[in-house]
Amino acid sequence: MSSTQSKLSLTSRIFIGMLAGLLVGSLLQVLFDDSGDFRFSVLGLDISTHTLLVEGIFGVVGQIFINSLKMLVVPLVFVSLVCGTNSLTDPSKLGRLAGKSILLYVGTTAIAITIAIALAIVVAPGEGVNMTAGTNYQASQAPGLAQVIIGMFPSNPIDAMAKGNMLQVIVFSVLFGVAMAMAGKAGERLGVLFEDLNTIIMKLVTILMNLAPWGVFALMAKLFATMGWGTFGALVKYFLLVMVVLAVHAFISYPIILKLLSGLNPLMMLKKMRDAAIFGFSTSSSSATLPVTMETATNKLGVKSSVASFTIPLGSTINMDGTAIMQGVATVFIAQVFNQDLSLADYLMVILTATLASIGTAGVPGVGLIMLAMVLQQVNLPVEGIALIIGVDRLLDMTRTSVNITGDCMVACIVAKSEGELDIDTYNDPDAGLKQEDVHLEDFHKHG
Ligand code: ASP
Repeated sequence: MSSTQSKLSLTSRIFIGMLAGLLVGSLLQVLFDDSGDFRFSVLGLDISTHTLLVEGIFGVVGQIFINSLKMLVVPLVFVSLVCGTNSLTDPSKLGRLAGKSILLYVGTTAIAITIAIALAIVVAPGEGVNMTAGTNYQASQAPGLAQVIIGMFPSNPIDAMAKGNMLQVIVFSVLFGVAMAMAGKAGERLGVLFEDLNTIIMKLVTILMNLAPWGVFALMAKLFATMGWGTFGALVKYFLLVMVVLAVHAFISYPIILKLLSGLNPLMMLKKMRDAAIFGFSTSSSSATLPVTMETATNKLGVKSSVASFTIPLGSTINMDGTAIMQGVATVFIAQVFNQDLSLADYLMVILTATLASIGTAGVPGVGLIMLAMVLQQVNLPVEGIALIIGVDRLLDMTRTSVNITGDCMVACIVAKSEGELDIDTYNDPDAGLKQEDVHLEDFHKHG
C-alpha cells in the first residue's frame, strides 16, 4: 500500500502553516482596507471577499480547530490522571509530586516576574508616554485566595467537567485514581479499560496534530487580517521589553534552571518544544494546547505518564511565567505613565499577588489582563491603565502562552528526573515521538 507519509516533518508543516497564515493575513490587511474590498454577487447575494475569506473560511476553520483541541482537554486530563495516579505504586509519591511541582511552578513564576520588574525599572518603558486617565477599562474581578482553595474541590464533578474547571477536574481525577488503586480487583479491571481509553484519546490528539498546519494557518490568517496596528507606536518600548524578557526567561532562565536541577541538556528540551510552542502561539491558550503539551512531554521528552498526567494539567492552570512577566513590566509601565512611585514593599506585593493570582486563573486567552487588574489594585495603581496596553496585548498573549507551556514541560522534566520517572534515552533522542505523530490511513484499514 502506498504511504501517505509526507516528506516534510509535522513540525515543518505546522511552521509553514503559521508563516503562510501570517503572510496571507497581512496581505489581506493591506489589500482590503475599508475602501478596497472586492464584492461580487452569487444568486442575487452581494458577497464581500474579505468577509467570505476572513470571517467565513479562516474564521470557521480556526474555530473548529480550537474547539477540537478543547474537546480533548477534559477527557484527556481525567483519563490520563486516573491512569497516572492508579499506576503510582507508592502513595506517598503523590504528595511528593504535588509538592515538587507546585514549588517549582510558584518558584519559576516568582523568578520570572522579578526579572521583569528589574528590567522594567532599568529600561523605564513608561517614561515619555504621557497618557492620562479617562480611558474606561472595566476590570473583571479576580478570585481571592480562600476562594481559590475552596474552589478546587468540586461539589459536582460532572459540572466541573462541563465547565472545564481544571483544578476541580484534577482533584476529582486524583481522588478517583487513588480509590481505584485501593479497590483491589475492581480497580484492576477498570484500570485496563482506562489504559485503553488513554491510548485512544492520545491517538485522537495525534490525528488532530496532523490537521494542525491547516488550523494554525486559518488562525494566523484571520488574526493578521484583522489586527489593528495603530496602537503600537506609543507602546513600542513596552511591547519590545515584554518580548525581550519573555525571550530571556525562555532561553536563559529555563536552560539554567533545568541544567542546575536535573542536569538535562536544555537545548534538547527547547528544540522539542517547537510544535507545542506554535500551538500555544496560535491559540493563545495553555488550556487548549494541553493535549499537545502532554504529547510533547510524554512522547518527545520522555516524561513517564505517571508524572506528566499530573504535572502538565496542573501547570496549564497554575503556571504562567509568561503572563507574570507581562504583569511585572505592565505594572512598572503603568506606574511610570501615571507618575506614581512604587516602593520596595509595593514591588514585593506585586510579585506575591501576581504569583498567587496565576494559581486561581485558567490558561485561556487574555486572562493575564484580569490578573493584572488584581495586581494593580493591590498597589493602588489605576486599573484603567490596562486600557493603555490592551491594544498590543494580543501578540504578547500569544508569545507568553508559548513561554507558559515551555515552563510546564520544563518543570515536568525536572520532577520526573528527580523521581526516576524520566526516560533519558527518549529525552536525548532528537527524533523521539516523531513516528507516533504520523497518522496513516492504512492504520485505519488495518484495524477497521
Ligand atoms: N493566554 C495565557 C495562557 O493561556 C494566559 C494569559 O497570559 O492571558 O497561558
